Amino acid sequence: MRGTNTKKEIVKSSRGRKKSSTLWLKRQLKDEFTKKAKDEGLRCRACYKIQEIQDKYKFFSRGKKVIDLGAAPGGWSQVVIPYVGKGNVVGIDLLDIEPIEGLIFRQADFTDEQTQKWLSSQFGKVDIIMSDMAPNTSGMKSVDHIRIIALLEEVFEFAKINLKEGGTLIAKVFRGGAENELLTEMKKSFKKVEHFKPKSSRSDSVEIFLVASGFKGEK
Ligand code: SAM
Repeated sequence: MRGTNTKKEIVKSSRGRKKSSTLWLKRQLKDEFTKKAKDEGLRCRACYKIQEIQDKYKFFSRGKKVIDLGAAPGGWSQVVIPYVGKGNVVGIDLLDIEPIEGLIFRQADFTDEQTQKWLSSQFGKVDIIMSDMAPNTSGMKSVDHIRIIALLEEVFEFAKINLKEGGTLIAKVFRGGAENELLTEMKKSFKKVEHFKPKSSRSDSVEIFLVASGFKGEK
């Protein structure tokens, strides 16, 4: 019957789809966190990653000002807004999102200078900057790794200007080794820099989060 496809039927009717994307879709449908997000009305499984970070570190609390980089489809903001309150989160993404109550959002490229100016103009210095951004993957691990490190470097530079003293930076990175130099630099600017791999992040994914807290302030 039209409009009542079961999950199995959706996968079966994927004629024309490449094998790799069919496997991806099957995995998505089976994935415990994807199902949970759907059942709980959350936008994506990524929600659980920031929730796990919050459960461990308790960074988000009422009145904290937050920047969400790579906010689409809005899962992280959806989790964070109830902690910090409406109007305290500003997000950007290359993609547009369905509006979220309490989120100030702009569709824009973070690497664009104008975007960074706009972000800075929203609250002045903020308590937390979180970045779940990942550049499009090329399929070549080394190239992808370099790209995400370049993006992370830019996020780090932005954080140094836009974080309040004592502030926190949470940023996605891919395991790969080349980030060591950047880690050393970050340790000069933050009291604590740790890696965190949430349970909700697929174990076969190279994704990991850098949690840098206690910003020492602009030098
Ligand atoms: N944290 C989000 C959530 O919970 O809904 C999921 C983020 S998704 C994994 C990564 C996002 O980063 C994508 O939507 C992508 O468009 C965005 N992105 C990648 N590069 C970007 C850039 N240069 N500027 C803005 N957004 C970017």
